[in-house]
Amino acid sequence: MVMELVAELLKLMILAALAIAGVLVITIWKKNQTLKVTYIRFIIQAASLAAVYYLFTYPVRPLYIVAFILIMTLVLGRFFCGWICPFGLYMDVLTLIRKALKIRYRIIPDKLNKLLHNLRYAIVGFFLVLAAFLYIIDTPATTKELTLTALGLSGVFEQMYLLLGPVVPLIVPWEGPLEIGRIYFSFPYIREVMLYSGENFATVAALIFLALVFVGSFFIRRSWCRFCPTGISLAVVNKLKGFKWAPVLHLDKNETKCTKCGICKRVCPVQVTEIYEEKGGKIMTSMCMLCLRCVEMCPYEDCLRLNLGGKTVFKSRNWLEPAELD
Ligand code: SF4
Ligand code: SF4
Ligand code: SF4
Repeated sequence: MVMELVAELLKLMILAALAIAGVLVITIWKKNQTLKVTYIRFIIQAASLAAVYYLFTYPVRPLYIVAFILIMTLVLGRFFCGWICPFGLYMDVLTLIRKALKIRYRIIPDKLNKLLHNLRYAIVGFFLVLAAFLYIIDTPATTKELTLTALGLSGVFEQMYLLLGPVVPLIVPWEGPLEIGRIYFSFPYIREVMLYSGENFATVAALIFLALVFVGSFFIRRSWCRFCPTGISLAVVNKLKGFKWAPVLHLDKNETKCTKCGICKRVCPVQVTEIYEEKGGKIMTSMCMLCLRCVEMCPYEDCLRLNLGGKTVFKSRNWLEPAELD
């Protein structure tokens, strides 16, 4: 009874925190319109967190969700990472707390950052190979089982669950690692960390992982996103003939307006350097998660643009100039 009360209170506190965050966001946005994209993004991320929770209350095959994210990435670039992913939201909230405490972030050397970025292809490759290996040694005995596996792509492909790690919200509708009064709490990857570390070390491993995520993301913006296998972009596909159109949502740079001030490089939460370095035109980098921080902070009108197909949906503006009086 007491635990159920505690659980309800916790749930209410989380909902209240989301509501307060929403009010704060709108207030700050009204006071300082130059920051509007960042705060609108927070609202969308919070709403997505609730939507993801309800998605998980339905028995949707994990692989379908992974496939959806990857297809979405092919079409919309890493929009999912910038605007929807719950793990991304947790990291952004930690960044907000760090900023409020006036603590400066740490920067990873560019070479190491790129290395981590490439590492995620190896992580995905590893789990695909593992899934194939398990399939070979555990081939379904009957044709019916084989057909079911082929149809559902489940069973041995459970290793792909790892790709769903970042999508796990704080409160989960299934049995989570932490239960308080029949309300379950979880965190991205916690289930996998506990599973792979075995019964004896599960809790310790989970706590170490949580501490690492907290410290890492507190000091280094979007630290996990640097090598997260889920956010894998189909940049490789883009290089293939016939896929030059992808993604249709992308950043575009007008080099004649760029003064090389370096603001875009400094404000980027995942330290993308291409926006600063490239000569202009469509920016093709699989590291960019389309958070639009660089576009809202670039101080020159029309220098950076977010294009959907051939249409500009958002662009940088002269915020160094006095704001328009009208
Ligand atoms: S890179 Fe991974 S953790 Fe980061 S936002 Fe994308 S899916 Fe989420
Ligand atoms: S912030 Fe804008 S003007 Fe400055 S370097 Fe980046 S693209 Fe160029
Ligand atoms: S390059 Fe710009 S849009 Fe892309 S992740 Fe960095 S700040 Fe966000």
